Parts: sequence; structure tokens; C-alpha cells
Amino acid sequence: MPTYEYQALEPNAGCDLCRARFEVQQSMRDDALTACPECGQPITRLISRCDISTQMSDKAKLSDKNLKAKGFTKLVNEGGGKFRKVT
Ligand SMILES: [Zn+2]
Repeated sequence: MPTYEYQALEPNAGCDLCRARFEVQQSMRDDALTACPECGQPITRLISRCDISTQMSDKAKLSDKNLKAKGFTKLVNEGGGKFRKVT
């Protein structure tokens, strides 16, 4: 089950739980929480870095351009034990 991060919309108004970020494990089918389970203050779901990276398709993630941007080296097997460096 994925874990979502929440934080109070107005951190000064929240309780100890929602003033800091807190995590809630919930099903993807569940609606995002809108109120702190402790104090009822309005909260917002934070978009984690993990979510952002998964918005990219596998093809885009493994594109030569992205691999190079992330500092990966890509080698293509040309057969006969030879590898050609692509990025
Ligand atoms: Zn709270």
C-alpha cells in the first residue's frame, strides 16, 4: 500500500502531528485526507519525489538523454563481447 505525506495547510495552526509532515498509508482508491486525524485542521497531500519520478514512463526514464542527464553511462552490446558507449 502506498504511503502519502501530509502537512497542515497552515502549519502554525496545526497540532504536533500535522505541523510536521506525517505519513499515512492508504490505498490508491482512497480519497486524499483533507483534515488532520488528530486536530481536524485542513491538511494537504504533499507530492513526493517518488511520485514525480513515476510520472515519467519507463521509455522516457531509459532514454539516452535522461540517462545522460542522470549521470548514467549506457553501453550497447554490439555482439562478440564488444560494447559501445552511447552516453
Ligand atoms: Zn493536526
